[in-house]
Amino acid sequence: MLDGTSALEKDRQDPLKAFRDRFVLPEGVIYLDGNSLGAMPAGLGQRIRDVVERQWGERLVRGWNEAGWIDLPARVAAKIARLVGAGDGTIAVGDSTSVNVFKTLSAALALRPQRRVILSDSNNFPTDLYIADGLARLLGQGYELRTAAAAEMHEAIDETVAAVLLTEVDYRTGWRYDMAQTTDRIHAAGALAIWDLCHSAGAFPVHLDAANADFAIGCGYKYLNGGPGAPAFLYVAPRHLESIRPALSGWMGHQAPFAFTHDYTPASGIARMTVGTPPILSMSALEAALDAFDGVDMNLVREKSQDLCDLFIAEIERRCPMLELVTPRDRKQRGSQVSFRHRQGYAIMQALIAEGVIGDFRAPDILRFGMTPLYLSHADIVRAAEILERVMAESLWDRAEFRIRAKVT
Ligand SMILES: *Cc1c(COP(=O)(O)O)cnc(C)c1O
Repeated sequence: MLDGTSALEKDRQDPLKAFRDRFVLPEGVIYLDGNSLGAMPAGLGQRIRDVVERQWGERLVRGWNEAGWIDLPARVAAKIARLVGAGDGTIAVGDSTSVNVFKTLSAALALRPQRRVILSDSNNFPTDLYIADGLARLLGQGYELRTAAAAEMHEAIDETVAAVLLTEVDYRTGWRYDMAQTTDRIHAAGALAIWDLCHSAGAFPVHLDAANADFAIGCGYKYLNGGPGAPAFLYVAPRHLESIRPALSGWMGHQAPFAFTHDYTPASGIARMTVGTPPILSMSALEAALDAFDGVDMNLVREKSQDLCDLFIAEIERRCPMLELVTPRDRKQRGSQVSFRHRQGYAIMQALIAEGVIGDFRAPDILRFGMTPLYLSHADIVRAAEILERVMAESLWDRAEFRIRAKVT
């Protein structure tokens, strides 16, 4: 086990330590919530000011061509592609993750017209399930959403299933699917695999092409640090690109948007999955955020993330035996977060935040801590554990103000 001194030694040898300067974090805060909203990359504010004041303010509508706004989503897509193991022209950036679930799932269902079942994980993030259910209702004709627990997923995949919609890393527990193996199982049943990478992209290396994924979606504001409500992304395997017809057939996905023709002809390739006018302000923020990954070896990010998780688990189990670990101990079986369960989880997290350690709470009883190796040190983890130990030992959480639920938890 690492104590304070060996944590400092680890930090001295950390090959990623210089990347901390690429982020702005408030003094006195240990930020363990980059899995909910990533920290702000340095230089992002300047970039936004330039887009607003110089590009928009001075160029006005000319900015679409002269400032390259129209090609910005494709530039951002190329930067995300490197992080998720996707080839050129397979990623589209825009809309929210929820909307991209709808877009990819509707495309997948149309590729398996004889089948009527959407299969997902019963513990999937609610919006994925809500959107899938909404799409099944919209389509009617016997379409249904079926769910199974992760442990029963392989058995639940049968010949009635058109598409399987799974989040690679469970947002509560941090448990991680084996993407390549599960995708093989899905394909063996003749179904299509849609992977939600909200807790994967930017957290560790993802290999969409190599895993043979059919579709993927993911968000821009968690480990990619694109800012609150940043545009999301989607992936379509090259083999499907020319055969899908978008359900949300917007003009930006048209072959010639500025021909203003009456009939919809999809653009060739991934461009057909774009819908409306790209949000240039938030897209610029996302691009600036992705520049923080320049020259970053994602294998090193994974290794350090696993070390930070191991360290946090060991420190918390030693100091706070009343907290029950719900994240797998096996490094291979988890993403980049550690979660503990406690009946007073909400109040404990509020007290911890008041002490400068920001994590988050997920109903009903989960304390969740995200590990973001680009801006966290081993010493931060030990310090966070010390503070949580004090919150528990001195019952700092046991105050009425910490039980009041905020609108966003
Ligand atoms: C965060 C998250 C989302 C968020 O969807 P939005 O449309 O961006 O609000 C969706 N799915 C998963 C698995 C998530 O973790």
